[in-house]
Amino acid sequence: MGVNYICPECRGYLNACDYIIFRAKTEKGEKGLILLHPELGNYTVMHHPEFKFEEGETVEFYCPICGNSLTTKQKENFARIIMLEEEGKEFTILFSRVAGEKSTYKIQGESIEIFGKDATKEIDFKNLTDFT
Ligand SMILES: [Zn+2]
Repeated sequence: MGVNYICPECRGYLNACDYIIFRAKTEKGEKGLILLHPELGNYTVMHHPEFKFEEGETVEFYCPICGNSLTTKQKENFARIIMLEEEGKEFTILFSRVAGEKSTYKIQGESIEIFGKDATKEIDFKNLTDFT
């Protein structure tokens, strides 16, 4: 697989078996695993049928390896991971933590690519390289 995703904290690989794997907690405190499709703009989401959350519910995403929350401090409805392309290029990926909201940003330096019908350009273009 050409593209990999890693945790911004521990830099462990988050993708396996063609999906990106997260530990997650819903607003109601339900805990489980969420698998997201690695193709940006593909919003296929997989999880155990007993691990339920509703459209519009904000989900907290954690790295399954180090346990760190992936919520980005600069845009708190978004989670942040790192995408590694084959050529060694690194991108910051921000995706909405709100269930059902299709909004993803791929950022490198001053350049930004937007995916998903709910994404807007309402992102703070200052400090694009400084997501934590
Ligand atoms: Zn980690």
